Amino acid sequence: MLRIDQAFQPWARSHPLRVALRDAGTNVTYAELGGLVSQVALQLEAAGVRAGDRVLLVAENSVALAVAILAVSQLRAWSATVNARLSTREITNFVQHSGARVALYFSEGSPEAARHGIEHGATPQQWDGLGNLLVGPLHTEAVPEPAVPDVAVLVYTSGTTGASKAVMLTHANLLFIGANSRQVRALVPTDVIYGVLPLSHVYGLSALLMASLVSGAELRLVARFDPVAMAQALQHDGVTVLHGVPAMYAKLLTLGAVLEAPQLRVAQCGGAPLSASVKAGFEQCFGIPLHNGYGMTEASPSICQTRMESPRTDCSVGPAIDGIEIRLDMMGQEEVAAGVGELQVRGPNVMAGYYRAPELTAEVITSDGWLRTGDLARIAADGAVTIVGRSKELIIRSGFNVYPAEVEQVLNAYPDIVQSAVIGRSVADNEEVIAFVELLPGCVLDQAALHVYLKANLSPYKMPAKVIVLAGLPSAASGKILKRELHRLAENAHD
Ligand code: ATP
Ligand code: MG
Repeated sequence: MLRIDQAFQPWARSHPLRVALRDAGTNVTYAELGGLVSQVALQLEAAGVRAGDRVLLVAENSVALAVAILAVSQLRAWSATVNARLSTREITNFVQHSGARVALYFSEGSPEAARHGIEHGATPQQWDGLGNLLVGPLHTEAVPEPAVPDVAVLVYTSGTTGASKAVMLTHANLLFIGANSRQVRALVPTDVIYGVLPLSHVYGLSALLMASLVSGAELRLVARFDPVAMAQALQHDGVTVLHGVPAMYAKLLTLGAVLEAPQLRVAQCGGAPLSASVKAGFEQCFGIPLHNGYGMTEASPSICQTRMESPRTDCSVGPAIDGIEIRLDMMGQEEVAAGVGELQVRGPNVMAGYYRAPELTAEVITSDGWLRTGDLARIAADGAVTIVGRSKELIIRSGFNVYPAEVEQVLNAYPDIVQSAVIGRSVADNEEVIAFVELLPGCVLDQAALHVYLKANLSPYKMPAKVIVLAGLPSAASGKILKRELHRLAENAHD
């Protein structure tokens, strides 16, 4: 059974001198990568790491982080990568929850990682191949051996709807999805992939790290999203493949006229609903399709992808990827009539389960292997899937269903609005629609004018009871909007 650190080995032989990984300070060729990974694996072994142990990696995107993930894999231990920009409370939860044998805090280039390391009593060390880092705490007592075989990584979900869940993904899951990402975007060794999605999130881990190693391409690891830096890389650094969550594309487009990307061949959005205005704005600006992909951590993550040969004009997420099955679970008469059901998926992309939570796993994976996504969708006759929203986020207003994504689409098309998020708030025996919006720099919202626009575009029951302007929408480390924070704000905004 292959491990994820073996994915790039054919390229070390066929084009050893090409760059595999690059960040602001360093680059590693395909020839060098194998040696580096083995060197780090030896140091991890010396620190007590054995097969089946968890290794916590607290970091922002860097070459060192990518090398560490591969080195942990070489020992058949599990890496659990968490973004250094999370709060101390969150990191402490992960330290405890993962039962990690050792935690590495990648302090070089991340003051946050250094701060977390110090708070957790880790000590500064110099590791060959990784540079300066903080190491600790060591669980020298026996860490219970997990009974699940072939796990490569623990990936925490975004925590959009509640507390993050730890998903166990296997080597086979990640190799399958890496090969699939390569095939669906026709990745080649001359591709230069812009790597700003965090490797701590499944989208970055699969579509950036796995896909580029499997393809023999070059991955430019970028620690933090900054629209200006992204625009510059597109213009000057030969980037051919771009991935991002919708919020990143929305912010990139606010830069307006200065945007150019002479080498860009593939642009892909995923991780949250893509709005028509962002898709149209991007395509007008760059002259290439903005592809959409849908998935979830529990599916490594890819489930649906629009295809290169038939780009979409709408915001559908395209058909299921090759090699998996999907189906809709219709829950009642009303759903059947509307053609909307819960999307379910089965195949080699489905997780081994939630870590140390078999009852939670049993809730989402049926006895015959179907993963319930919790997302409501429609499937067209040609197989293209449209995600209408999460079942948990469905707002029931006076007996009518309101899908937040539909209201967000309308809000996002309003000229002054960069992005929006819509949630339901309980009032008496009903729910009301609350919208949060982020405005273009310098804009002041004219509530009356927006109201007129919304009335012209939405049925009365879908109208927001309130539109709250925020300087920025709260986001997870992956860049996705954190709706659970908005629920909290909405509760406090009662008047
Ligand atoms: P948590 O499970 O912790 O609440 P999360 O579900 O946001 O967080 P992820 O696994 O990162 O964590 O996200 C998967 C979810 O993101 C999907 O279930 C779906 O609701 C949404 N999603 C992903 N891609 C798309 C897309 N292209 N269009 C619409 N929704 C999407
Ligand atoms: Mg989820």
